[in-house]
Amino acid sequence: MKRISSELKGAKTIAISGHVRPDGDCVCSVMALYHYLKKELPEAKIDIYLEEPPAPLQILEGIEEIKSTFNTDEIYDVFFAMDCNDDRLGDALPIFRRARRRINIDHHISNTGCGDVNIVEPERSSTSELLYDLMEPALVDAEIAKAVYIGIAHDTGVFRYSNTSPHTMQIAAELLKFGFDFSKLIEETFYEKTYFQTQIMGRAILGSVRFMDDRCIVSMVSRRMMEFYCVGPKDLDGIVNLLQGVKGVECAIFMYEIGTLEYKVSMRSNGLVNVAQVAVKFGGGGHVRAAGCTMNGTYHDNINNLSKEIAEQLERAQTKEQE
Ligand code: AMP
Ligand code: MN
Ligand code: MN
Repeated sequence: MKRISSELKGAKTIAISGHVRPDGDCVCSVMALYHYLKKELPEAKIDIYLEEPPAPLQILEGIEEIKSTFNTDEIYDVFFAMDCNDDRLGDALPIFRRARRRINIDHHISNTGCGDVNIVEPERSSTSELLYDLMEPALVDAEIAKAVYIGIAHDTGVFRYSNTSPHTMQIAAELLKFGFDFSKLIEETFYEKTYFQTQIMGRAILGSVRFMDDRCIVSMVSRRMMEFYCVGPKDLDGIVNLLQGVKGVECAIFMYEIGTLEYKVSMRSNGLVNVAQVAVKFGGGGHVRAAGCTMNGTYHDNINNLSKEIAEQLERAQTKEQE
């Protein structure tokens, strides 16, 4: 692997992990790395520690190798933390801490570098894209290509968000040459929703409220609602993006209840607001236009606290516009 081959020399045991509630980029970069390392280091034992991936991603080859229980005393020679900082490794954190060598590969602007080696490039569309450039082209096969492609597609909203660069498209073009059915894969892993997922999405949109002169929009899903529609956190992807698409909206906020007075917050910006900065203030992180955090308190207190930060940024942006 480019840039880190010396780190891997002699490694006999390797662990790969990513963030809690893994998304497409996380799962795909983990799986692509797994398949790649199996080819580069055929003698090494490679274990994957990750929470259960969303159902549509279970089509990836080797996904059954993922260990979703983290009770091990093993001290790995190398640990790869993908698509996150150590604070989002969840139950894999003790394994990470114990490892002899830690490699962190990520594209979050809020990443402070938790590894002994950090390959953190915020201008990258996705960790999958960054990982692809570390791979020796000769070792990339169709299965690796497929995983990288899906990872990039998920984090770019299928090559739509502003994190999509000419280089992203060049990589995508190279990957398509492997001949997998990209259209079907994107449909089935990104767009397709179950009936209940579609229903709760509708419910969340119906309950949305605009504020701050209609420049912000917010919606919340409670635990009771999730129970009623028989859905979990994994089923709520895409709601915040729909809110973001409302004409005139600068910043969209979506929250779902994860515990008593505890909410997972997702934010999206259409350009004026740096939501990573807002999320970092509340212990989270992410990207300039897509970020998240976990907040304690009532729903209304949380909105008030977030609003204060967002309003300040909007005001600043407005002053700049007027200058
Ligand atoms: P989400 O709203 O969960 O889709 O997340 C948007 C982006 O922010 C993704 O790139 C996440 O990886 C990142 N993100 C979400 N929550 C956190 C958090 N608590 N800490 C750091 N990054 C986060
Ligand atoms: Mn991610
Ligand atoms: Mn990512």
